[in-house]
Amino acid sequence: MTGFEHTQNTKKNAVLVVGGGVAGITASLDLANAGHTVHLVENKSHLGGQVSELDKLYPTDHCAFCPLWTDVKKCMEHSLITVHTLSHVKGLEKENGNCSAVILRSPRYIDEKKCVFCGRCEKECPVGAIHSEWEHLNPPSFVIDEALCTQCGNCTNVCPSDAINMELKEEEIHLLVSYVIWATGFKEADIHHLKEYGSGTHPDIMTSMEFEEWTAEAGTNRGTIIKKSDGAVPANIAFIQCAGARDLRMIPSCSAVCCMHALKQAEWVKRRNKGIDCWIFYTDLRTVGRDYYRYSLRDFEGAGINLVRGRPGLIHPLPGGKGIAVQFENTITQKREIRRFDIVILNGNIQPSLIQLRSEQSEKTVVPQINKEGFVITESDETPDFACGFGLEPADVAESVIQASATAMRVINKESDQW
Ligand SMILES: Cc1cc2nc3c(=O)[nH]c(=O)nc-3n(C[C@H](O)[C@H](O)[C@H](O)COP(=O)(O)OP(=O)(O)OC[C@H]3O[C@@H](n4cnc5c(N)ncnc54)[C@H](O)[C@@H]3O)c2cc1C
Repeated sequence: MTGFEHTQNTKKNAVLVVGGGVAGITASLDLANAGHTVHLVENKSHLGGQVSELDKLYPTDHCAFCPLWTDVKKCMEHSLITVHTLSHVKGLEKENGNCSAVILRSPRYIDEKKCVFCGRCEKECPVGAIHSEWEHLNPPSFVIDEALCTQCGNCTNVCPSDAINMELKEEEIHLLVSYVIWATGFKEADIHHLKEYGSGTHPDIMTSMEFEEWTAEAGTNRGTIIKKSDGAVPANIAFIQCAGARDLRMIPSCSAVCCMHALKQAEWVKRRNKGIDCWIFYTDLRTVGRDYYRYSLRDFEGAGINLVRGRPGLIHPLPGGKGIAVQFENTITQKREIRRFDIVILNGNIQPSLIQLRSEQSEKTVVPQINKEGFVITESDETPDFACGFGLEPADVAESVIQASATAMRVINKESDQW
């Protein structure tokens, strides 16, 4: 597409929302329902963000994606929202009181409108480059991973509805918007350099997101708890809190979600297999607010979940595949101990996703201001951009949604000030 797409087809000004997690989805819906045209730009092939990677959600312990699915569907179907998946912002510049944005959209190669979701392409692909994201897409469809695809053409030959077109190219979309909302959320941080955690030294030392995926009911192991190293059922699991967080070498602030998440994961392990011994090593249990406090009052110790106040000083694989040693001081009993575990989960290594524009920058460029930890610092009256969700500060789903609605309201109010 060339030239600027006319987005001001309603009375209200257009808004660019960057990031399609719960925060971006909520802000988009609130703005569109108030009459704003919204362009929602998401890096991945589907909306939902990190919540779509989770199995269960605290404090309800219900399926994580189900509640979000309704809002994803509303976003996809809203007449004022255009969803740009597989896209990122290439450039963003102030222009006569507005912002001109250049969005780069990678091809999906499979036309969602034509795909009948028969699965033949997935079966025929020799390198596993095609996978379904049926629960995240509306209508359900397959996606081709460009990095793995060898362009062999098998999928095109077996597709009964001519939905696959490997000739498609990256597309540049030019937009004119009045406001920008950064809702880019978080990603896992690499903690290999914090040697004491043993990250990468043993297949059964996993991050909490890896463990969530490994044990998800809809995942590879259909909810069974087994070791990655040999597929055997573990005798015990250690959950290590603040691994990378509240650490001046890495992320000085608290990640805000990991204590609740570890309690949730340990409880789910016990629900699936009572015989697995669970240990949570915490700095202090941060379960703030009425519902979370009630959650923490559950009888975890009665359920066989051991809570130890103390951050382990060393985690290392034992020789001969005999498990993983965790060395710690219990700061309540003041005893130093070394225990052997089959699985170790590192919890807390999450940091805001950084937003990088790919074009060259000038004084007209709109880039989010970030602090030294990478969180977006918002906004003055002079800038057209706002932020919400985990990219603004560590926040659970409820907090991210509240922030997103508040941010949408600020845009709506800014607009009414001008009228
Ligand atoms: C291990 C773990 C477990 C958790 N469990 C729970 C729980 O049980 N209950 C609960 O309430 N909360 C939980 N949380 C917190 C919850 O995941 C967050 O509150 C929520 O994901 C924040 O939503 P968000 O939209 O701000 O960010 P995200 O979910 O991170 O979404 C951001 C989106 O922006 C996209 N994006 C990033 N950069 C760009 C870019 N430059 N251009 C385009 N798109 C971009 C990303 O691909 C992503 O889709 C958990 C968090 C962790 C780490």
